[in-house]
Amino acid sequence: MKLTVLGYQSPAPGPGGATPGYLLETEEGKILIDCGSGIYAQLMKYIKIEELTAVVMSHYHHDHVCDIPILQYGVLMASIFGKTSRTLPIYGPKNPEDWSKRMNYQSHTRLRTYDENSSLRIAGLNFSFLRTEHPMLCYAMKITDGKKTIVYSADTGPDTDWGRFADRCDLFICEGTFTKEFVPAGKRGHLSAREAAELARRIQAKRLLITHLSPDISREKYAEDVGEAFPGEWELAEIGQVFEC
Ligand SMILES: [Zn+2]
Ligand SMILES: [Zn+2]
Repeated sequence: MKLTVLGYQSPAPGPGGATPGYLLETEEGKILIDCGSGIYAQLMKYIKIEELTAVVMSHYHHDHVCDIPILQYGVLMASIFGKTSRTLPIYGPKNPEDWSKRMNYQSHTRLRTYDENSSLRIAGLNFSFLRTEHPMLCYAMKITDGKKTIVYSADTGPDTDWGRFADRCDLFICEGTFTKEFVPAGKRGHLSAREAAELARRIQAKRLLITHLSPDISREKYAEDVGEAFPGEWELAEIGQVFEC
C-alpha cells in the first residue's frame, strides 16, 4: 500500500493548502479517501481521474466532501472525451441523506453505503469501519492488505470507544485538531494532538501521522503536544508526504 497525503488542514485550508484527502494505491487500483477543499487539484498531480477505482468517504462535513462535485465534473469530462464509460463508486455513510444523495451524479458516480457491520474489498484491500464520536455520522476505517494495516481515525472526539479496532496498526492516521492551549470546553467532536498521541500510545500504533491540523495553529505547538506523549515514530501531515506500508 502506498498512501499519499493530498490535504490535511481543517476546517479551511491555508494558502496553497487543502483540507483532508488521501490517495491510497495498490497494484490493483487507486482509492481516494475523503475529498476536501483543494483535493481534486492535488489528486491530478498523481493520477488521471479515469484511473481512480473508488472514493471512500468518512463523513460529509464540508472539509471532507466539498471537492466531490468537482470530482464529478472531472469524471463527466473524462466520459465526454471517451476516456471512461464506467460509473465511479463512492462509498459513504447513509446519513445525513441530503448529503449522501449528492454522491450520485448522472451515470458518472454512484453512492454505495456502508456501516459499522460492512466489510468492503476494494483494489485488493479490506475496509472495516468504526463509528466515531462526532456531531455527524462518521466512521474511522481500518484498511489492510492482509500483511499491513492502516487505521484512519477520520474525525473523532475523545469519547469514541476504540475497543481493539486500531490495536497495533502499522500506520495510525489520527486527527489532532487542537493543541492543549486551544481545547474548547464541553463536549467536542475532535481531539487535541496530545490526545491523539496518547491514543496512539495506548493502541500501540507502530507509526503515527497527526492530521486535520488548523492553519491558524503553529506546527511547533502541535509537535510539542505529540512529542510529549508518543514515544514512537510520528509526523505531522504535509501535502505530498508518502507512506509505503
Ligand atoms: Zn467532521
Ligand atoms: Zn473534519
